[in-house]
Amino acid sequence: MIIIAINVRQCPSCEAKTTIPILYGDLTPSAFQRVKEGLIKHGGSTAPQTAYHFYCKSCGHEWTKEQAIDSAYEKIRGIKTSVGGFRQGFYNIEICFDTNKVTWSSTACGEVEEFEKTFRETDSRKVLEMLKPINLLNWRAKYNMDVLDGTSWFVEVVRTGRNITKSGHNLFPAEWEEFCEAMRKVSGKEFGGAAD
Ligand SMILES: [Zn+2]
Repeated sequence: MIIIAINVRQCPSCEAKTTIPILYGDLTPSAFQRVKEGLIKHGGSTAPQTAYHFYCKSCGHEWTKEQAIDSAYEKIRGIKTSVGGFRQGFYNIEICFDTNKVTWSSTACGEVEEFEKTFRETDSRKVLEMLKPINLLNWRAKYNMDVLDGTSWFVEVVRTGRNITKSGHNLFPAEWEEFCEAMRKVSGKEFGGAAD
């Protein structure tokens, strides 16, 4: 099942935020009313083979859920993330998709270790593709468990426009291990080791 990414309100073609959903099938009286009010678009009584899910009232562009997800992930310009605790130290990773640079650092046992590398343009695509099944954009903003000790994590999604931050303390999104694995692949270094 595809969960709709959060940024579906913006038209991928003209960037207006006048998006309404497209509904197929027979309309109930209340749905008919919402069509009249311009809150939804009626796409016809039967859905076509390629059914679009969104309609832009500004330019008339129509797109699917999959395209909405693609366009939301294409807006990602970078990832900043850290995981760790005050006892064990932190791992930090910064990925920039504009310069194709990844910076990794660790602050374990009071010692700072740093590492930087550049990856190829095509690898940028691969990283973004890895983030889609991890469902990063749909993670909640906060995952917290009220225990003082333990592991904290933080992810900032750097985007054109507003950045999104996600964080947690001793509580992790379901895809956390996959995320750590992706970060290890990108940096070639250790990251995570906390979700136990
Ligand atoms: Zn538009």
